[in-house]
Amino acid sequence: MTVENKVERGLFDEVMVPCYNPMEMVPVKGEGARVWDQQGKEYIDFAGGIAVSCLGHCHPDMVNALNEQSQKIWHLSNVMTNEPALRLAKKLTDLCFADKVFFANSGAEANEAALKLVRRYAADKFGPEKTEIIAFKQGFHGRTFFTVTVGGQAAYSDGFGPKPGDITHLPYNDIEALTEHMSDRTCAIMMEPLQGEGGIIPPTPEFAQAVRELCDKHNALLIFDEVQTGNGRTGNFYAYQGLGVTPDVLSTAKSLGGGFPIGAMLTTAELAEHMKVGTHGSTYGGNPLGCAVAEAVVDVVSKPETLAGVLEREALFREGLEKINAKYNIFAEVRGKGLLLGAALNEQWQGRARDVLVAAGKEGLMVLVAGLNVVRFTPSLVISKEEIDEGLARLERAIASLAK
Ligand SMILES: *Cc1c(COP(=O)(O)O)cnc(C)c1O
Repeated sequence: MTVENKVERGLFDEVMVPCYNPMEMVPVKGEGARVWDQQGKEYIDFAGGIAVSCLGHCHPDMVNALNEQSQKIWHLSNVMTNEPALRLAKKLTDLCFADKVFFANSGAEANEAALKLVRRYAADKFGPEKTEIIAFKQGFHGRTFFTVTVGGQAAYSDGFGPKPGDITHLPYNDIEALTEHMSDRTCAIMMEPLQGEGGIIPPTPEFAQAVRELCDKHNALLIFDEVQTGNGRTGNFYAYQGLGVTPDVLSTAKSLGGGFPIGAMLTTAELAEHMKVGTHGSTYGGNPLGCAVAEAVVDVVSKPETLAGVLEREALFREGLEKINAKYNIFAEVRGKGLLLGAALNEQWQGRARDVLVAAGKEGLMVLVAGLNVVRFTPSLVISKEEIDEGLARLERAIASLAK
């Protein structure tokens, strides 16, 4: 591509499958929590991709890890013992309940592995009847056909022919519905320990507890999809650690690579036994570049100072959003945990989350939405206080322009 052939939004319509509808602006450079577009306009980044860039853009530790590994070895097949993958797996297992790791390249793939594992375990241990997967409405687990079918929005999985079977969707936070429905046929429950895409919906502590107890009662396994909540996002390394409910299987991706594609499924030694040689695999899973970057990310994120810093930043966000709300009366509530926050629009502002996103963009601020009525914030976990203040000032200007 020569300089004259500058890439613009229009080229997207020419050459891309239209399953996305990107914005006009073209970001070309990022540093920390700031991003610049082709025209040199600066943005404060409260989105971090979608909860991916947990150390901001081009964090020096990540750049170093990538540079160093890129001069050693880029790729190894799974026939080889892989140094960066094993180093990362050791660190991940040291940080949580799990003993074993399977590496994938994305959240959906990590979830796909989790779902195959629980089905295989139940088949091996309890026979062919125990196949039911229970998941929750508004849940999101990725876009492969199995994971999107387990996700709680039929609109995403309809229209592709016959779906993977024996998947039940129940309302999130409804202990009664779950108690009533669950049986010894239930193979596993898959849930997010704080629903992200579905609108930043936290579980009640009682619900989380009940899920665990019902799984134990019915010999069912519990999968926590921590693709969005994992890696420090909620102020614990994994969100389950703040809930006091431990899953049997956990998936992680997004912030794990901080911007480099990698995902992982974590589980216990007992369950892992059932994924024998040949049962599952991935060509790129455990890629040395991805694992080297993820190790650098995990080293920074798992520091107690970083995790404590997430909660300090949450407080700044909540304070700032309250102040904006006191002036413009736009939010019904601010919910979520750590730096996975959602500002739910009140009655008068219903359906206008995307308007806020667009207006924020004009003011030089990147935010996200979660559905039509929630403005979502998933910034870098190490964003500076000044950048939070400046970003909130820009958000206020955006809301002021809409309120006029
Ligand atoms: C983003 C997300 C996924 C899908 O991850 P991909 O990397 O896009 O495949 C799965 N589960 C949750 C909770 C997510 O937020």
